[in-house]
Order: sequence, then structure tokens, then C-alpha cells
Amino acid sequence: MKIKHIDHIGIAVKSIDQAAKFYTDVLGLKLEGIENVAEQKVNVAFFPITDSEVELVESTHPDGPVAKYIESRGEGVQHIAFRVENIEEALEELKAKGVRLIDEKPRKGAGGAKIAFIHPKETNGVLVELCQRD
Ligand code: ZN
Repeated sequence: MKIKHIDHIGIAVKSIDQAAKFYTDVLGLKLEGIENVAEQKVNVAFFPITDSEVELVESTHPDGPVAKYIESRGEGVQHIAFRVENIEEALEELKAKGVRLIDEKPRKGAGGAKIAFIHPKETNGVLVELCQRD
């Protein structure tokens, strides 16, 4: 597979409003937008940095996956996303190599991307996302 670059780093926060201040006021990044991803019960805030971005992820529902993540592990870096050229091919390659996946097929992520997660047991505890944007 062809990994192009780090697409984004996903950071789980309790409140985008509160957490965004560090990225805007202190680091001087621009908040490009906030998107609701209903399927994941989250809002995602985008802070682009050249080819990559920081994504702040807040839960919109107490039983959502990010709310549960924060409950057990606290706020912080939640996942790293690699941009791939062709996510279907990448997933086939991983399956052929016997790598456990959370998503066998790509699903729709924020910003119209196609995304899929690799099981963190395969990556020393890092939740790795593959991401394709056309
Ligand atoms: Zn992500």
C-alpha cells in the first residue's frame, strides 16, 4: 500500500469550545470548521497544518464511543490517521497479511473521507486509521 502522509491526529476532548482555545489562541492555528458525524455520535473540529490536521473530537452523546473512551482513559490523543491512495487495496493487503481490522470495509468519516480502523492489538496500543480523500 502507499501511505502518503499523516492525515490527521484525533484528540478526544470533553468540549471542543474549551479545547480549541489552545490551538487557536496559543498555537495560532485556524479552526477550519466543525462537522457533526451522527453515526459516530461526535462533533469533529479541524485545524489544518499543511498536509495534515489536528482533529478535536467531542462526543454528542453519553453512550458514544468517544464518551466511553474519555470515561476510561481520559482526554488525549485517541488515534493517528494515515492517508492512503486506495483504501480498498490497503485493507485487502492488510487482510492478506493477517492483520486484525476493526473495519473490514471502509466507512464514511468526517470531511467526506473514506476511513477504516486497524485493531490496536496489532499496533502496540495505537488506534490507527487509514484515510482516503479524493
Ligand atoms: Zn480520524
